[in-house]
Amino acid sequence: MSEQARNTFYSGLQEKLIGLREQGLFKPERVLASRQGAQVTSEDGRTLINMCANNYLGLSGQEWVAQASIDATERYGYGLSSVRFICGTQTVHKELERAISAFLGTEDTILYAAAFDANGGVFEPLFDENDAIISDALNHASIIDGIRLCKAARFRYAHNDMADLEKQLQAAADKRHKIIVTDGVFSMDGTIAQLDRIVALAEQYGALVMIDECHASGFMGKTGRGTHEHHDVVGKIDIITGTLGKALGGAMGGFTSGRKEVIETLRQKSRPYLFSNTLAPSIAGASLEVLKRLSGSTELRDRLHENTAYFRRRIEEIGFIIKPGTHPVVPVMLFEAPVAQKFAARMFELGVLLSGFFYPVVPMGQARVRVQLSAAHTREQLDQVLAAFEQAGKELGIIPTTTPSQN
Ligand SMILES: *Cc1c(COP(=O)(O)O)cnc(C)c1O
Repeated sequence: MSEQARNTFYSGLQEKLIGLREQGLFKPERVLASRQGAQVTSEDGRTLINMCANNYLGLSGQEWVAQASIDATERYGYGLSSVRFICGTQTVHKELERAISAFLGTEDTILYAAAFDANGGVFEPLFDENDAIISDALNHASIIDGIRLCKAARFRYAHNDMADLEKQLQAAADKRHKIIVTDGVFSMDGTIAQLDRIVALAEQYGALVMIDECHASGFMGKTGRGTHEHHDVVGKIDIITGTLGKALGGAMGGFTSGRKEVIETLRQKSRPYLFSNTLAPSIAGASLEVLKRLSGSTELRDRLHENTAYFRRRIEEIGFIIKPGTHPVVPVMLFEAPVAQKFAARMFELGVLLSGFFYPVVPMGQARVRVQLSAAHTREQLDQVLAAFEQAGKELGIIPTTTPSQN
């Protein structure tokens, strides 16, 4: 490469980075100096209540989870230096796969280093140019990438739109196998996919169904099994992908679960499984312990839903507009991007960590801060957060400075 070509390469990157900053699209990283949890310490020593982790069950920083990972490390060592099929499968990996299958109500499960890999490696081995993948327009980036790696025909239906899904099923009628793919829960709005209706359409049109349960496994449904339990369609979903990096412990790791012949095919053909290292035994052991606890008690799941209901009710009483729903993702609508930015910054000063979202992450005019509840939040912490919302809301003129009863 000539010196000049090198220079234009690097200066081109610099310009793009400057452009991102100028457009307000640059994503800085917040550095924590503590464990993850309901309360965290930032690098500069400030204590913050954390309202933006996917730590739904509050397990990320939990002592017993950390201890389970230490125990697994002592028994199984630090790592395997191998992919699964050469010499990278330990009893703990097989136990975890069985435990996930039992938890989800499926036949078998395959582990990946991340749900991103699970989604990236699920389509190409199972579907080819004779088949059709029918995907919700707002599905996660990893699903979109996974579909790109596969030769099947692609059909996209408008987000959560069952009439359009039906249209796409009709458009795909001449394909051999069809699969409908959706996030079980969409993380921007906390929207829960209408799995009862999706399963009914799938039965009518002879399609398979796949759900990505990253924002559902561990706490959706009455015993926390996921969106399929929430909508009472356990046993009717063909493929479930999910993460160990959110509610189920919070470290990392992913899985695909379903019928034996699907999972066995993936073990033979799925590239992120075949060509990437085994999940660390510390994570497998701790995840196993998490699933044992969650199978024995709904206490954490129940506390999460209590916290969610409390927060959703109180934030509306204070005068904020939220997207209605029941999921612990609570979008507090501020509509204009500069307002969302100012609001998140003011909340940070008031000791609350949350994230602002604006175009192009969400549609124009739909800027918001996204609150994520956790079972680990105490009532006192939630009241502190609500008081900060009220203060910042009044300061920025988002809610009236007098309460309705004073009018
Ligand atoms: C977070 C997320 C993923 C990726 O999970 P990782 O295990 O962190 O790779 C995939 N799909 C959805 C819907 C997610 O929210």
